[in-house]
Formats: sequence, C-alpha cells, structure tokens
Amino acid sequence: MKKRILLKALGDRESFNALDNAFEQFNRAAKILELTEDQIAMIMEPRRIIEVQLPIRMDDGHVKLFKGFRAQHSMIRGPAKGGVRFHQDVSVDEVKALAFWMTYKCAVVNIPMGGAKGGIIVDPNELSDSELERLARRYFSELIDVFGPDTDVPAPDVNTNPQIMAWFMDTYSMHKRQYLPAVVTGKPKALGGSQGRGTATAMGMVHCVRNAAEHFDLDMKNLTVAVQGYGNAGSWAAKLLHDDGCTIRAISDISGAYISKDGIDPQLAIDFVRRNKKLAGFEKEKGIKKLTDPMALLELPVDVLIPAALENQISNSNSPRVQAKIIAECANGPVTPKADDILTENGVFVIPDILCNAGGVTVSYLEWVQNRMGYYWSKERIADNLKEIMDNAFATVLQTSLEKKVTMRTAAFIVAIDRVAEAAELRGLYS
Ligand code: NAD
Repeated sequence: MKKRILLKALGDRESFNALDNAFEQFNRAAKILELTEDQIAMIMEPRRIIEVQLPIRMDDGHVKLFKGFRAQHSMIRGPAKGGVRFHQDVSVDEVKALAFWMTYKCAVVNIPMGGAKGGIIVDPNELSDSELERLARRYFSELIDVFGPDTDVPAPDVNTNPQIMAWFMDTYSMHKRQYLPAVVTGKPKALGGSQGRGTATAMGMVHCVRNAAEHFDLDMKNLTVAVQGYGNAGSWAAKLLHDDGCTIRAISDISGAYISKDGIDPQLAIDFVRRNKKLAGFEKEKGIKKLTDPMALLELPVDVLIPAALENQISNSNSPRVQAKIIAECANGPVTPKADDILTENGVFVIPDILCNAGGVTVSYLEWVQNRMGYYWSKERIADNLKEIMDNAFATVLQTSLEKKVTMRTAAFIVAIDRVAEAAELRGLYS
C-alpha cells in the first residue's frame, strides 16, 4: 500500500523565498496524488548545484570577482534544460527554484527534457560589452563539463540574450574543437537559432489566453491588458495580444509603469526601448502617463494581467486588490502560494507559469532538435508545432483542474509530477 506523506507546509506563513514557494506548490499536488516518501525523495530536490567563482579583468585593468551558479534539478526525462539569469539578486535558492520549475514545465508540455537553471550575481548594466562577454565566456568555460547537448542545455533568461547565447556556444565549440550549436538554445538564427524562438514565450502565453478566453466565453477583441516587465517576454506579450485585438492599458519595466486610457501601441514602446534601453521617459509620448507607484499596475481594472518580470510580485498584501479576471504568468513564480489562495477565493483565473510561459522552452526544444538534425524548419512549422503543444497542454491541465476541483496551478503540477514520477519509477535507482 502506498504510504502517504504529509510534507511540511507553509500553512498561513507567507514566504518570499522562491524555493519555499516552489516546494509548497509541489506539496499541494503531491498530497492529491498521494505520492509516497520514496517517490518524493526521487523527484523533489535538485539533483546538484554548482557554485563557481568568476574572476574577470575589467576594462580599467583591475580584477573583479563574480559568483555564478548552475542548478540541475532533474535529468530523468531528458537533458537538463533552463536559462541563465544575470541579475544582482540571483541566489542559490532562486536558481534551485527556477530549475525545479523547469523540470515540471517541460513535463507539463511533455517535451523530453529535464530542468536546470543558472545565474550570475551581477548587474549587467554596470558592465561594458567586452566585460560582459568575458564574464559570459568565463562562466561557460568554468562549467564546460557540466553543459553539453546530451547533458545540460542553457537558454536566455532575465538580462541574457541571443548574443550571450552565441558567446556560450562559441566557448563550448572552441573547447570541443567542433561546431556544437545544440549545447545552447535561443541563439541568433545565423548560428542555428530557430524561427520563432524570440517570440515563443509570449506566443505560448497568447495560446493560453486564447484558450482561457474561449473557456470563459470572452472575446479577445474586448480584453484590456496590463503587462509588468518589458523585456523579451513582456514586450512580445503586449505586441502579440495587441495583434489579437486586445487593448494594452499599461506596461512597466524597472524604470516605472506607464498607462494610457486610449491604449498603448506596443510597437512604439518596443522602438522606444530599442533606442533608450528602458521605458524611462515614455510618459513624454502622446497620451501616456506615468503611475506614481509602479506596483499599482498590478491592481488596475483590466481583464488580463501579465506579470513578466520577477518572482513574488503578487503576494498576500496586494492580491486582495487585484481586479483582473485572468492572470497569465509569463514570469516564473510571480504569485506567492498565499496570494494564490486569495486570488482563487476572489475568482481570478491564474494560468500558472509552468504552463503559461512554457512556449519558450518548447521552441528551445525544437531548436535543439533542428541543431541535432542539421535541418531547419520554416516559421510556419514552428508556429504550428508550438500551437499544438500549448493547446494540448492547456486542455489537459484545464480538464484535470475541473475533474479534481483544484486550481490550474495544482492541476499543472499534478499532470507534470505524474509524468516525472512515472519516469523515475521506471528508471529505478542506480547504485
Ligand atoms: P528580460 O531581461 O528580457 O526582461 C525583464 C524585464 O523586467 C525588463 O523590462 C526589466 O526592466 C523588467 N523588470 C525588472 N524588474 C522589474 C520590476 N521590479 N518591476 C517591473 N519591471 C521589472 O527578461 P525576460 O526574458 O523577459 O524574462 C522575464 C520573466 O519571464 C522572468 O521571470 C523569466 O524567468 C520569465 N521567462 C522568460 C523566458 C524567455 O524565453 N525569455 C521563458 C520563460 C520564462
């Protein structure tokens, strides 16, 4: 008989530690699945975490030391997969949590990959381009035996981009004396990057929002939207939803939040960021106002709220004031478990990160497949594959949520944990 385990839960306590929150989400689904202690021991904790010291010669000649991490959560269903973040707030627990979410994200969309995540504690805005390149290359070469097309395949995340992926790929290929593009995804197209990778995270979210709108009988053309974060995920989220007929009421980035009663043209904002790096000064454009408190964006009376920045943005304190009908999580971990409970009570439909932003890793997987074949697919084929994968995943999670009367987040974890646990049991333990 299966021994049911009750994991230590957060209870009423609110944590802003991403790993606490990731495990709490796991816990909620594990209880419903009645996982045994043995099963949990095999699939919950990260498999390994590596810390590296990165001494970099700065442009003025002095040496500065940075710290980097790579967490491999799971390689049970395939090579570990997950982005590398450059941010001053990167921590061991954040990297572990992000790696954990990657395992279950790949399992929700049923792609044959495990989970990993990396990070360097750095504010890249303080580095010149050549310092950034030296840091990226040193990170990759320090972890050269950890990464590999069959072991661990990184991708972009916060403050990393296709150019940095190109440096990673070049560093690895030079060490191995071969052209090895499959070691990293999110590369420029000239180096084996896939069609559709740039827009993939946001496009996957759009498929989820379209499915949610259909479920609630809402017309996309009548939806108003607020987007927090205007980087890769957020700017494309605004642009693609605008293309679907939605009105973009507000957008934000690290410089502040900007609102327009007539709606914001996302392309105007994208061009503005391209010229100025940030949205700072965007309020000078016609009809745009800057909010005094940027966090007020999360409480605007819109239909769809898209967190596309960092973790823990919607918590115990502000969740009671959220007015959106749908929250589509482009960011990882933007809603704490306590906030999840409050949003559920208030009837807010949360499309969880491990489903909602899985379009990125899905097209990364397609990029990896193409690299390994040396044969490249058209934009249309990638778009069709992404749509099919996201629509199937959304339907499976929604059905589980309705059948088991649980939130979409717990349903997504139920679907994903089931797949990872089955694979772990079949593989057994090598000892
Ligand atoms: P990015 O570096 O391209 O953009 C991050 C954006 O967030 C920037 O506009 C930045 O100014 C803004 N930001 C930072 N702190 C903020 C704050 N306190 N308030 C408002 N805005 C703030 O990063 P990205 O790749 O777009 O990633 C954003 C989120 O999406 C992250 O949680 C990431 O893990 C997640 N995600 C990204 C991908 C991807 O393919 N890039 C895939 C899945 C999930």
